[in-house]
Amino acid sequence: MKLIFATHNLNKVEELNQLLPKSISLLSLNDIGCHKEIKETGKTFKENAKIKADFIRYKYGLDCFADDSGLEIEALDGAPGIYSARYAGPNKNMEANIEKVWEELKEINNTRAWFHTVFYVHFCGKEYELSGSVEGSIILEKRGNKGFGYDPIFVPKGYKKTFAELGDNVKNKIGHRAIASQSLIRILTHL
Ligand code: IMP
Repeated sequence: MKLIFATHNLNKVEELNQLLPKSISLLSLNDIGCHKEIKETGKTFKENAKIKADFIRYKYGLDCFADDSGLEIEALDGAPGIYSARYAGPNKNMEANIEKVWEELKEINNTRAWFHTVFYVHFCGKEYELSGSVEGSIILEKRGNKGFGYDPIFVPKGYKKTFAELGDNVKNKIGHRAIASQSLIRILTHL
């Protein structure tokens, strides 16, 4: 079965392809010739995921799903949240985003945080909202070179290394998309 993952982020497509059974192969927006950046104008992860999934469902008539995810830091009232990619400005500079997180956390002892994701799915005429979270803490230095985004400064609970040091093996077990993808597999395989 082929399913569209409404994203241009090939890191995410690769990550999810490793999680889903071989019988399901994911196509990215690039694979279907959609090079448009679908604007995330929602106020929640769910709204943004739905905007992207609806766009593909109604423009291309294809079953698909979209995600919206980000980092939520307790001491910052959930920021950067839905603004995770553009926390320091619209050019989505990850170095600047991380610097801004550190700046905001200066002199705050609480570094508790979560990665959170919502998948919005169109499948066989039905719609589903699925979610996944992983708790951890923010560190004030970058460690590791795997993964993407905030991975070098996020240490998942129960571990001493960052996601960028731990890599896919661990992220594929405890990561936010890994958890949401378990629910996705159940829907796609009618369990
Ligand atoms: P998106 O809008 O779902 O693509 O994600 C928004 C932003 O959240 C990304 O640009 C990353 O900065 C951050 N993010 C989401 N998932 C992860 C992750 O697994 N690791 C690190 N950062 C992430």
